[in-house]
Order: sequence, then structure tokens, then C-alpha cells
Amino acid sequence: MTRGGLYARSFALCAAVLLTGMVPGSTVSSRVPGPDVKTPDIEQQNSARAYVLSYATPDVHALAPEPVRVAVTVGKGDTLMALLAKAQVPRAEAHEAVQALRDVFNPKDLTAGTNIELSFQPKRNDDEDMSFLGLNFEPNVERLVSVVKTWTGFEAGQVQKPLSRQTVKAAGTIHSSLYQDAVKAGVPAGVIVEMIRALSYDVDFQRDIQPNDKFAVMFDRMVNDDGKTARIGDMSYAELTLGSTTHRIYRFVTPDGIADYYNGKGESVRKALLKTPIDGARLTSGFGKRMHPILGYTVGHKGVDFGAVTGTPIMAAGSGVVAEADWKGAYGRYVKIRHNGTFSTAYAHLSQIGRGIQPGARVQQGQIIGYVGATGRATGPHLHYEVLVDNKQVNPLGVKLPTGTKLQGKVLTAFQIETGKLETRMAGLPLANATKVADASDAKAAKAK
Ligand SMILES: [Zn+2]
Repeated sequence: MTRGGLYARSFALCAAVLLTGMVPGSTVSSRVPGPDVKTPDIEQQNSARAYVLSYATPDVHALAPEPVRVAVTVGKGDTLMALLAKAQVPRAEAHEAVQALRDVFNPKDLTAGTNIELSFQPKRNDDEDMSFLGLNFEPNVERLVSVVKTWTGFEAGQVQKPLSRQTVKAAGTIHSSLYQDAVKAGVPAGVIVEMIRALSYDVDFQRDIQPNDKFAVMFDRMVNDDGKTARIGDMSYAELTLGSTTHRIYRFVTPDGIADYYNGKGESVRKALLKTPIDGARLTSGFGKRMHPILGYTVGHKGVDFGAVTGTPIMAAGSGVVAEADWKGAYGRYVKIRHNGTFSTAYAHLSQIGRGIQPGARVQQGQIIGYVGATGRATGPHLHYEVLVDNKQVNPLGVKLPTGTKLQGKVLTAFQIETGKLETRMAGLPLANATKVADASDAKAAKAK
């Protein structure tokens, strides 16, 4: 029961007593001395009520004393039993309350920092101990758990607090890195990762992004009545403006129930190869040099480099079969994946080759195949990445890959209606304040669902 609920109950009791006090209305008015009993004026009515009140009040207090509430905060390593003992709850009652709580909540799951409200009945005289009435707390912003003393002992209950969905827009200019500037703009980390992942097929996060490029994103969050964010929902739209080019991606659920991201033409953003085969959020230098527009990649260096700290996971740019996974001279630790009869990709200077990555092993796009290092001829930790066509290195930045699946017919029409709605919504939304999930335990609880 909520604090308000407990209060409301004692108030209801009070009102009930008042009512019973007033039911024999004629008796009351007859008790009130007055010159004209048949037509009492307002003043007389008021004095009658005042009389009843002063008569009823002591009884109300005797029946429903306002409980004394004590707030305790769970510290690291605290058990509920220890907290109750510290608050002078008699051992037997504490034990019974904790046992009752187990029906709805495992006391071991109490996290440090949780506030627990304990209720006691105040003592009526000095010889009496305050008796323990129960406790309540919110294990997360969605849930209220309580234990209340009843005639038959302690009973536990819980209330699921309603959440509402809020669609939020955030946007900003890139000054240091997409990740950092998106955090500053109030985009939750999970949404940034989703955005970077969805854009990694088209964007080389090392070279394509330059200072003053822009981003905008729309996502859902689930909030409770207090406006606290319980969890983050899906990213529905994202745009990244690189120089004069804007990449737009839309979330769309096809009739078979599969959610994915598409570009404005209804083409899945998924391509055979990722352009950034590393978590774009973890690149050390925010910006790489944009390639010379005519020369493309530098002659003699037949790949592109991604600067990241040693140990950063490297992903398979596409699904395929491992062709090589060993030390290879100046490349240091090296992995090569064959994607089809034409395309292969290679990854060099690894500090470590991923578990199970050996010639003949099948890998999925995005699977971790190794970790960034500086083995072989490398001046510092980075991933050297190559795309090979018919076993010859090509400029990875210039590779034209077939587009992903394209929506057709009625589904494409539905998609176009949906993107129109998303754009209207995006245009009409104000910019969001920072979205903070209420606390770490909430995020954990949300994940556990
Ligand atoms: Zn290189």
C-alpha cells in the first residue's frame, strides 16, 4: 500500500466514525441548544457540526493513530533482517514480515540505495513498545512492494505502476565524436549503439565523420507517473548528415513481424559487408582523414586503418568462412574471411584472435573474430582492414556492394506511409532533455524481463 493509501485508510476510518457520530442527526440537533430548532440557520448548523467534531475526535485518534514512518536506506551488504533489527523491530515480527515478503519479492534482490519505509504504531503510554505495522519500497520505478500487518499476520502485496510511452527526439552537432556528442544531447547509450550499428553498413566511422557533421535521432522511452524513465524503447528514426549527404534510416516492421532498419527507398540498411568492422563508438581518434577524393586510398597501403585501444573487439564485416587465422609477417596476427566466390576481408595487427576462429570456421556478420592490437609492423594499436576482390586488395572505401533486400509492392506502400508518419512526428517534436534511466538496478530489472 502506498503512503497515500495508508493515509487514505486512516482518513476513511476517521470519516466513518464521524458519520456514525452524525447519523442520529435529530439527536444531535436536539442536543444543540437554540431558540429556533425547526429552522436552524447556517450558524447553528455549523455549531452542531463543531459539537460533533469535538465529540468524535478523541475516538478517531484512539482507533486510528497516525502511524510513525521511518525511512531506511539499504547499504552495501545490508540484509533486510539486519535493517529491521537496527530499526528496533522485534526479531519475531521482523522474521515474519521478511517471510511474508518472499511471496512477492526475494529479499536478497534488494539493492544498495533502495529506500524502505517502515511503519510503526505509536505507543500510547511509556510502558508500551511501538508495534511494527509493515514496510514498503520500490525495487524499481515500475513496481511498489509492501508488507502490511493484518489480523492474521503479515501479508505482502505489490503494485505494478503504469508506464507510458514517450517518443523523444534528440539532435546535435559532432564536435568530438558521434558517441560523445550524442551522450551530451541526451541520447541513451543503448540508442547510440543501435544507431551506430545500423549506420555501420554505410558509414566509415573513422573517415566519413568530420567536425560539424550533424545527427538526429528519435526513440521511445517508458516513463512512470513521476516522469522517471523506466526503460528505453526502440530507436525509430536516425539521420546522420556528413558534409552535404544525409543518411536517413527508419525502423519498420514487415508483415512477418521482423523489425529492421531501412533507408528512404525501402532498402534494408544491412549489406553484405560492414563499412566499420569495429564498434564505431570505440574508435580512439574521433576523426580520420577523409580520403583524397580522386586518389582514394593511398597507394602502397592497401587497406584502411581504424584507431582503437588494444583489446577492442573486431567484428566480421560479413558472414563467411575463415580462410586464414594466424601470424602473417608484417601483418602480425591476421584473420581472413572468404564471404563468397568474389569477396574476402582481412584484419591485421590483432592482439588476439577470437575464440574458435580457425580456418574452415563459419562466422556471422558482426561476430567477434579478434581484438585490436599492434602486432607485426604497426606503430600503435589499430585495426588494419582490407577488402579483397578475387584475392586482390581493393580500396575498401570504393567498394560497391549490392544493396540489402528491398521492400516491394504493398509492403513498400505501407513503409512509405510509415516513414511519412515518422518524419511528421520527428518535425513536430521538441528536443529532449537528457534521458536517464532512474538507476542501474532499474536497467537490470528491465533487462531481466
Ligand atoms: Zn593499415
